[in-house]
Amino acid sequence: MTAHFRSAKPTQLIKSATGDWEIVIGLEVHAQVASRAKLFSGASTVFGNAPNSNVSLVDAAMPGMLPVINEECVKQAIRTGLGLKAEINLRSVFDRKNYFYPDLPQGYQISQYKSPIVGEGRVILDMPEETVEVGIERLHLEQDAGKSIHDLSPSSSFVDLNRSGVALMEIVSKPDLRSSDEAKAYVAKLRTILRYLGTCDGDMEKGNLRADVNVSVRRPGEPLGTRCEIKNVNSIRFIGQAIEYEARRQIGVLEDGGSIIQETRLFDHSKGETRSMRSKEEAHDYRYFPDPDLLPLEFDQPYVDELARHLPELPDEKKARFIADYGVTPYDAMVLTLEKESADFFEAVAKGRDAKIAANWVINELFGRLNKEGLDVTKSPVSADQLGAVIDLIKDGTISGKIAKDLFEIVWAEGGDPKVVVEQRGLKQVTDTGAIEAACDAVIAANPDKVEQVKVKPTMLGWFVGQVMKQSGGKANPQAVNEILKAKLGIE
Ligand code: ADP
Ligand code: MG
Repeated sequence: MTAHFRSAKPTQLIKSATGDWEIVIGLEVHAQVASRAKLFSGASTVFGNAPNSNVSLVDAAMPGMLPVINEECVKQAIRTGLGLKAEINLRSVFDRKNYFYPDLPQGYQISQYKSPIVGEGRVILDMPEETVEVGIERLHLEQDAGKSIHDLSPSSSFVDLNRSGVALMEIVSKPDLRSSDEAKAYVAKLRTILRYLGTCDGDMEKGNLRADVNVSVRRPGEPLGTRCEIKNVNSIRFIGQAIEYEARRQIGVLEDGGSIIQETRLFDHSKGETRSMRSKEEAHDYRYFPDPDLLPLEFDQPYVDELARHLPELPDEKKARFIADYGVTPYDAMVLTLEKESADFFEAVAKGRDAKIAANWVINELFGRLNKEGLDVTKSPVSADQLGAVIDLIKDGTISGKIAKDLFEIVWAEGGDPKVVVEQRGLKQVTDTGAIEAACDAVIAANPDKVEQVKVKPTMLGWFVGQVMKQSGGKANPQAVNEILKAKLGIE
């Protein structure tokens, strides 16, 4: 796959009376590692259990408890790094990031600072006008904190430690994004890659993918401006809104002659605004130091190679293969590969059939219908075999394309073998030319004025075809109707 950095012209500029502004964005995405146990304890990670039921003595930071690394989480981080075409560091170090908060019983978070498990990589975005390559700075493993709950009682706060110690991957991008659309596309693509890999569920509603959004503005060509970091934005739509608001806020400050203070902000989605939370903390505020309870994390290249060998085909490769092997358009290939399950469904339909017709049916009819019902493809009432059978019936001339849509609806609602449904409901296409000729004659006889018109305006033929199709209840073979009408009306 060939990708390039965008051309010299920035993608989205904000116009203002004083000249153009460019937005610069870098994201720190926190992705919960798909693993049954936590990063340093055997406690469960199941979502939605009763508060404080998934908590081991390690997660509660009881004195004398020692963390033990969960190998599954390490493998998931390496697999993610490989999926991001990143450098895997055979030696990395866990550090303590010290701060006080009631939901952090240890008084520090175990994270990775100077030596992360994964180094530089990249993510490719298919934007409408261009392909954009976004640099990955690093990926490191860290523990999640617990959750403080303030709204259950007016006088007390509560702490739920179920999340305490759950493994997170923090994936840090370079400041390569230039618009809210690119930032949204980046998070969506990252989520797709993680889901293909099975390393994170990517369920933003459950909070297992959230982003810290760094935004700055500058005049095109100038050095990077001072950034603000918007913490913990938990939906793709909110990420877009937060960037749009924050960029305009910064431009307003700068145009009024002020300067941007580097700070941490919060996005209030009910107001659509960001507001200041605290001034930016520096690394030295956290007193990072290597955790003396944990050895450096070391593995060898064959260990990584073995994980690489079992990596699934990823979205970019699948997309390229769909274009090359099935001849579908790049756009269709992109849509078909957004979810692995959708891609599998398409391949099952396309196997041994005209792939372009298959893509058209899967995207327009099936996905369209699934979206309307809010279903994902694994819950589709029409199976790949059933959809394939509908396509076969069109292909062999048993039904017309129009009847096929009715048939699809019937199979969607009632199930059944499409072939049998066609028989039982008498949906077969009429190819008997005698019957079609009679219908054509009837339409011609009833519309002498239109017959005059079509002789000077041949595009009127479509109207005649439509009338005959209507008379036949959509069952006449449109090809045959076309030819017979042309002959009878004497049009070429
Ligand atoms: P920190 O650890 O203090 O948050 P980093 O240097 O790790 O700082 O950067 C965090 C994120 O901020 C990265 O995703 C990076 O791409 C982004 N970033 C850095 N500089 C800028 C900038 N001027 N404008 C927008 N984003 C930036
Ligand atoms: Mg940060």
